[in-house]
Amino acid sequence: MKKYTSEYSKHKYDAIIIGSGLGGLTTAAILAKEGKKVLVLERHFKGGGFTHVFKRKKYEWDIGLHYLGDLNQNEFVSKIFNYISTDPLHWESMGEIYDVAIIEGDKYEFPSGKENLISKLIGYFPDESTAINKYFELIKKSLNAPVIFDGRNLYDLDKLNEMKFTYYSIGRADIIN
Ligand SMILES: Cc1cc2nc3c(=O)[nH]c(=O)nc-3n(C[C@H](O)[C@H](O)[C@H](O)COP(=O)(O)OP(=O)(O)OC[C@H]3O[C@@H](n4cnc5c(N)ncnc54)[C@H](O)[C@@H]3O)c2cc1C
Repeated sequence: MKKYTSEYSKHKYDAIIIGSGLGGLTTAAILAKEGKKVLVLERHFKGGGFTHVFKRKKYEWDIGLHYLGDLNQNEFVSKIFNYISTDPLHWESMGEIYDVAIIEGDKYEFPSGKENLISKLIGYFPDESTAINKYFELIKKSLNAPVIFDGRNLYDLDKLNEMKFTYYSIGRADIIN
């Protein structure tokens, strides 16, 4: 990461990306791999956005990202990471229960796999089964909705050049409503 100087404004770029979070850096890496000249501008003194960690005394804290899903071999996130990395990344499984919430002494486990999680939540809150199912249906709908472009079309990353990027002027609220 280099400090910005007016020298950068003298060059021509195919794309200027504001923000060096996972979104910005992933986009920049894809464009750079496709031979584009990219400038990433970051206002923080550290790159990475929500992937930062910081230390206080002997403890290390993650400010955002602490685990990732969709990492099976053929899934979108996994393909993107393999595409932008020099060597394929190896991911460590979080185990069957990837998170636990303890609220007022009651323990709620989060198992991996959508159906397992739905069953577990309905088990904890049987009266809310309709709302829980609806919530997961809405997440599925919003994930499949083409907000900027439909990322699922990226499955064949070798064909990136042939892709037609389309901008849709709808927001998440439109999808959920
Ligand atoms: C507490 C927390 C826990 C999370 N846990 C997980 C998790 O476990 N798993 C998971 O998958 N996701 C998790 N997320 C979500 C995930 O971290 C974010 O979705 C993802 O990191 C967002 O990436 P981004 O590139 O969109 O934005 P950010 O990471 O927010 O990056 C945006 C960058 O843009 C910079 N910026 C903004 N405005 C400007 C400007 N005008 N000029 C220059 N730079 C600018 C910011 O400084 C920042 O560096 C979590 C989020 C939070 C808050």
